[in-house]
Amino acid sequence: MGRGATVAKFACRCGAVQGTVAEASPQAVNRVICYCDDCQAFAHHLGRPDLLDEHGGTDIIQVAPAMISFDAGREYIAGIRLSPNGLHRWYARCCNTPMGNTVGPSIPLVGTVAQVFHTNGQVADRLFGRPAGAIMAQYAIGAPEGASRRIGSRLMLSSIAKVIGWRLKGKAWPNPFFDRATKRPHYRVTVVPETERQRLRAFCGPTPRSFPRT
Ligand SMILES: [Zn+2]
Ligand SMILES: [Zn+2]
Repeated sequence: MGRGATVAKFACRCGAVQGTVAEASPQAVNRVICYCDDCQAFAHHLGRPDLLDEHGGTDIIQVAPAMISFDAGREYIAGIRLSPNGLHRWYARCCNTPMGNTVGPSIPLVGTVAQVFHTNGQVADRLFGRPAGAIMAQYAIGAPEGASRRIGSRLMLSSIAKVIGWRLKGKAWPNPFFDRATKRPHYRVTVVPETERQRLRAFCGPTPRSFPRT
């Protein structure tokens, strides 16, 4: 375990889905605020704008798949994608709490919202430190201070380094959302209809036309 590492508990808002993140420490994770319109749309789709900051930012803690395990409420977990090839955005159906974003079974990275760690007196800042920065500010509502547009190179390199390290250290598997042998998701995944995706745009920041959609 690294310096100050501990086992972090997390839970959905109603407490039915619970789990742990092993070896939680500021060094073990990346923590960034993401202002992208997909993260904003996801929160609004779930009816959970309370999870966004005043500029529409989502506070995301990126961890290795093998660090996460669910201990209760697996039957409530489901996934959505905002487009057919978009991220898998996992959530707890019991109370519409985001439970982790994944790029797919081959990229060992799970992005969890910081609020799920605010349970039983736990505080995300104490476990993981403050966010290292903010990204995708071109989608933000208003102008968040100190945020980079797109993905800042320092934060990008930090994410890539973590993913490579996790793979080398064998932390890509087990993955809480995918089966290792078949690479199939453990839970039901649905793609949000295009009409719903368009409806959600009204709640989010600007949509630059030239930017690739996810
Ligand atoms: Zn719940
Ligand atoms: Zn995002």
